[in-house]
Amino acid sequence: MKNYRFPFLDLGEINRGYYSGLCEAAERVIASGRYIGGEEVERLECEMAEMCRAPYAVGVSNGLDALRLIMTAWVETGLLSRGDGVIVAANTYIASILAIIHSGLRPVLVDPDEKTLNLSAEGVEKACMADEGAKAVMPVHLYGRVAWDKDLREIVTRKELLVIEDAAQAIGAISPRPGLFGSRHAGALGHAGAFSFYPTKNIGALGDGGIVVTHSKRIADTVRALANYGKTSQYHNEYVGFNCRLDPLQAAMLRVKLGDARNVNARRFERAVAYNNVISHPLVIKPEITPQVTDQVWHQYVVRIPEGRRDRMRLYLADNGVETALHYPVPPHCQPCLRSLPHSPLPVTEKLASEILSLPISDCTPVADAAAIGRIINSFNQ
Ligand SMILES: *Cc1c(COP(=O)(O)O)cnc(C)c1O
Repeated sequence: MKNYRFPFLDLGEINRGYYSGLCEAAERVIASGRYIGGEEVERLECEMAEMCRAPYAVGVSNGLDALRLIMTAWVETGLLSRGDGVIVAANTYIASILAIIHSGLRPVLVDPDEKTLNLSAEGVEKACMADEGAKAVMPVHLYGRVAWDKDLREIVTRKELLVIEDAAQAIGAISPRPGLFGSRHAGALGHAGAFSFYPTKNIGALGDGGIVVTHSKRIADTVRALANYGKTSQYHNEYVGFNCRLDPLQAAMLRVKLGDARNVNARRFERAVAYNNVISHPLVIKPEITPQVTDQVWHQYVVRIPEGRRDRMRLYLADNGVETALHYPVPPHCQPCLRSLPHSPLPVTEKLASEILSLPISDCTPVADAAAIGRIINSFNQ
């Protein structure tokens, strides 16, 4: 493995910052004798619900399961029928789309807005016109930027669409516009939201983890039952359920880190500002820093390099000690497993996949490093 002067992400370093708290939390669980469910999971659920200003949260095994449990609950409770369409931006991580398929629903792929890289009201409008069966919409807050505005709110209300947020990349983000139930917090803007605690996310577990946040008691109860073999009370299995529970060991450690979410996101913002201030190469399209600031938690800092020069820039950066990543180089609809998925033409998604480049932006990356990387980018002349 190459040793980079500027590594993309050092998870060990991030978690060393919480070392004593993590050890204490793990010891507490080991001593408790309770290794499934229990107080640590319940407390994390309360803390997440409170943070998102939503009444219910249910800890689950990971982000993919959080998404698919919500949509399966919608089907089980009759809010959706098998085969109904869920509108989603095609440049998302493939998990968003897999979850729709696993729930017996149908992904309706639309191109994202070129500026926000997120789902737009216009995209939703077009999808609804072309597809009568579209009954739900999944805003994915890609790279940590909230996909929610006045127009999106207006159209989901007018078309009476169910809203499931894929908030895996946007923990702690706050939208300038209130959601359907008053909360402005990512994950609580629509009917239900899914978070992932995958280790690389802004708040990451030391393994897999996820959580569902919702305004509906019925959906919270159904998700909880589905995640536990479909069991609604002892010896009574109401649904053909799964085992998708969150470990108390992960919950206890996550509680240590969750309390620091605001600082983590503030540090990421500082790095994004440093990049935007320094990068001035004419070929590089920088992400927008929104005036509201809080509606973007910088899960990734993604620039675009058009004209087929992205890969050359990536090699040049590697040669200069900068490790980068691609989120994501192959759009889901181009993956072999989704070959037969019908979709409209997706020129924006396909163009973006060839232009995007993610720069290091963990909360451990020193601000000075972001500035130094920006200067290296400015010297690119190939
Ligand atoms: C990480 C991620 C997921 C999946 O979360 P897991 O916990 O890895 O299952 C889903 N959607 C998006 C946008 C993600 O970034």
